[in-house]
Amino acid sequence: MKYSDMHTHGFYSDGNGRPFEFAEKAVEMDIISLGFSDHSPVPIDNSWSMKKQALTSYIKETGEVKKEYSKKIDIYMGMELDYIPDVDVKKHLNFNELPLDYFIGSVHYIYSKKLNKYLEVDGGAEDFNYLVKEGFNGDAEAVYKAYYNNVREMISEYIPVVMAHFNLVEKNNSGGVHFDVSDEDYLSEVENTLDIVKLYGTIVEINTGGMSRKYMDKPYPSEYILKRCLAKTIPVTINSDAHNPGSLAYKFSDTIDDVKKIGFKELIVYRKGNWTVVRL
Ligand SMILES: [Zn+2]
Ligand SMILES: [Zn+2]
Repeated sequence: MKYSDMHTHGFYSDGNGRPFEFAEKAVEMDIISLGFSDHSPVPIDNSWSMKKQALTSYIKETGEVKKEYSKKIDIYMGMELDYIPDVDVKKHLNFNELPLDYFIGSVHYIYSKKLNKYLEVDGGAEDFNYLVKEGFNGDAEAVYKAYYNNVREMISEYIPVVMAHFNLVEKNNSGGVHFDVSDEDYLSEVENTLDIVKLYGTIVEINTGGMSRKYMDKPYPSEYILKRCLAKTIPVTINSDAHNPGSLAYKFSDTIDDVKKIGFKELIVYRKGNWTVVRL
């Protein structure tokens, strides 16, 4: 396989499998580089982030596996770094002191003024209903605006090389149950956010995790957004967001076929410590 898979979650956050189990599977699948990117600890109680006290073991164990498998596969120690407005996540985990090889920037929370609390965009359908109805008085437009606003802030503050699941706010919107993704207001949020992505040189991730976990029948981002990336010459990479070793590189070849049909001629992969272009 000529692709890397740099977005994975195991035992240390909300996935299953120890780092060595991911490494074994990645070798078996002949992935060119494997990245561990468990969810960063955050100062908000939730079921999916790494616990702050687990951080030392995460660094130790992923570091050991990286060394142990170095002759078979290039492994990198990373993190999916959450951006939460007005919360200093980086300070919470002493981010700048961590010996990470890379990180992926992501937004999973938006703030509800009404409830005076941070709500998760990445939950199930019922959680999202609650978020829209209770958190935002039924105003789904305000929800996606808050989401994309956070994404723009995340990119300008973190300047991540890769941003995760660009349109996560569409996860529970299949069939347009909450908002119309072809609405002018929605499209202008997408457009403004892609402009920021372009400005900071961030790579957009094609993420097959919603499919392997059966939340979605298409990858993030949508075909429309990918077309806009192409038009703006924004580079894209592919990741599985695997939550177990069996989901590594999930549907990469089918997804790449679709990406080629859209018109992409190249993709970014992580190879030997660099984000490099590979021809499709
Ligand atoms: Zn995520
Ligand atoms: Zn993830």
